[in-house]
Amino acid sequence: MKNQNNYPRILFLFSDTGGGHRSAAEAIIEAIHLQYGNQFDIQMVDIFKDYAPLQLKYMPELYPKMVKVPHAWGLGYKVTNSHRSARIITASAYPYVRRSVRSLVRQNPCDVIVSVHPLAAAPILRVLGKNRPPFITVVTDLVSTHALWYHHQADLCLVPTETAWQRAINFGMDANKVKVVGLPVSDRFCIPPGNAAQIKQKLGWPEHLPVILLVGGGEGMGPLEKTAAAIAEARLPAALVIIAGRNRKLKERLQEKIWKIPTFIYGFVKEMPEFMRGADILVTKAGPGTISEALNAGLPMILYSRLPGQEEGNVSFVVDEGAGLWAPEPESIVQAISSWLSNPEMRQKAAAASLRLARPQAARQIAQIIIEQIHQPIIQLSDHHPLKSKTPT
Ligand code: UDP
Repeated sequence: MKNQNNYPRILFLFSDTGGGHRSAAEAIIEAIHLQYGNQFDIQMVDIFKDYAPLQLKYMPELYPKMVKVPHAWGLGYKVTNSHRSARIITASAYPYVRRSVRSLVRQNPCDVIVSVHPLAAAPILRVLGKNRPPFITVVTDLVSTHALWYHHQADLCLVPTETAWQRAINFGMDANKVKVVGLPVSDRFCIPPGNAAQIKQKLGWPEHLPVILLVGGGEGMGPLEKTAAAIAEARLPAALVIIAGRNRKLKERLQEKIWKIPTFIYGFVKEMPEFMRGADILVTKAGPGTISEALNAGLPMILYSRLPGQEEGNVSFVVDEGAGLWAPEPESIVQAISSWLSNPEMRQKAAAASLRLARPQAARQIAQIIIEQIHQPIIQLSDHHPLKSKTPT
């Protein structure tokens, strides 16, 4: 399948339900550019915003509200988390989404499809039928992966951890189709650390203080406000950087407050790699994207909340390996930060454990696997190839 430039087409299916699906797709696209230059026509489609029927179009806006009722979300997650339930859900939804999915497929002809969202595979594969391009799923949850990720007809299923691999097998996937590659993160997280002071200076943060980076996923979720207040009230010898993500109201409320320690408030930032490399401690909800980025940036982390169901396993994944601490209450968060501030060796140990868990090659490996599915001659570029200079930054 060629466009007028004669470039093979790659279609990425994602949605802004949270920030992790977009980040994963963008990291893979970046890796494709880094390794192959501009030899492909790449499209990103938000399966809800761009194509879903009216009732589902607002899913990205509804998602933060839905997960605000964690018990209901967790219950829904558990009840639906079997291969049989996943089939029933997707079969019942099909009549409602069929027309939209047909438009998506008609308007986006391509040579390979990459889905980074658990809800894309079933309807797309059903509409496409037998004569279709290869379909690759890239699982963007780390450990407690939902059955919906594992559609048996997908050609390949790329997973971030051994546990996610085992779950794929338990849910009946053919082991030949499942590969452990790691969760893809942007190359900019994986550059060796070293110039934190320079980054602090560039961002206007105090260079003489450790920086605590507080993140609640793409949507500013979890008790972020309470946590920020507790850290500032404790007057810890540190600066606080709070990222409210797409949660505009939260950002406004935070900006109205008077803070007892140097505090910097941001909405959704594009420069997360720089933020992580300039920070000394990450305090975050247990989002898979943020965790994987922090691992690659060698940033020790304190996890303060998790979504029941999909993020539960992430906490033990981080804590058991020594890359971070679990502190679900503002008091325990303050205590954990305090112990790391007064014991830099402990913090460094956690930073080293983070790096051990990191899989900096994940995005590049996934890029390579995707390109192998395109049965056309592709040039693997050397570092000095002129096409590489056109790589978007
Ligand atoms: N993110 C970002 N800018 C922000 C806040 C978040 O780029 O201001 C990115 C973050 O780096 C990560 C993703 O959004 O890649 C959040 O993904 P995660 O899986 O941690 O949580 P989710 O938002 O999907 O629940």
